[in-house]
Amino acid sequence: MRLLQIYPLFLGEFRFAADEPWAGEVGVVVGYAIRHRRGVLLFDTGFGFGNDELDAYYQVQARRVPEALAEAGLAIDDVTSVVNCHLHADHSGQNGLFPGVPIYVQPAEWEIAHTTDHTILEWIDFPGADYRLVAGDHEPISGIRVIATPGHTVGHQSLVVATAEGDVVLAGQALYTPGEWAGDPSAREGRSRAGDQEAYDRSIARLRAIDPTHVGFGHDRATWSRPATKTGYPS
Ligand SMILES: [Zn+2]
Ligand SMILES: [Zn+2]
Repeated sequence: MRLLQIYPLFLGEFRFAADEPWAGEVGVVVGYAIRHRRGVLLFDTGFGFGNDELDAYYQVQARRVPEALAEAGLAIDDVTSVVNCHLHADHSGQNGLFPGVPIYVQPAEWEIAHTTDHTILEWIDFPGADYRLVAGDHEPISGIRVIATPGHTVGHQSLVVATAEGDVVLAGQALYTPGEWAGDPSAREGRSRAGDQEAYDRSIARLRAIDPTHVGFGHDRATWSRPATKTGYPS
């Protein structure tokens, strides 16, 4: 049996709004489940359900986390920890499925979510929520590191998963696409709309310095793979 496996989870689609680049085009939301020795870490929970305003504005087609997990052969009860890359509504909308499960968030993200119009708080604050507000880099599970990658938002964070082949970066929305990672100027990118572009650049530089074999994204189903490595996530 493999000791560690990364499963991309297709969590839904939306359309970019009229005032955004790529207006009318389809965007996707991707989370990840990482099965490790002692359980499953879930990275992001996608859009929530029942917010008519958000659904209309972005034409949201959310998928339910249990359904996405089932496609990976996993169940909701397998999830032993959750990490949100940030608390926007497309990444933390189904956190409420996980009462009693530690949910790791940067304190700066928590602060902005609870003091500004940042997200849909009904999806964040729920009975039994067990948020662990840990600042900066840390390793909640042996072999799975959380790396602070501010830029898109002030408290954004990414994951680095150690595999036999090398480190895999799950960027979240620290950057948008494999093309942006590779420096393709025609690719969809997130920098132009980042809350802090200098921080965004520094965060990408930090992720690049890890020299990952693979990079997964929160808004693209495609994976970047280092040239001459196998495609697909190693275990
Ligand atoms: Zn966001
Ligand atoms: Zn997003």
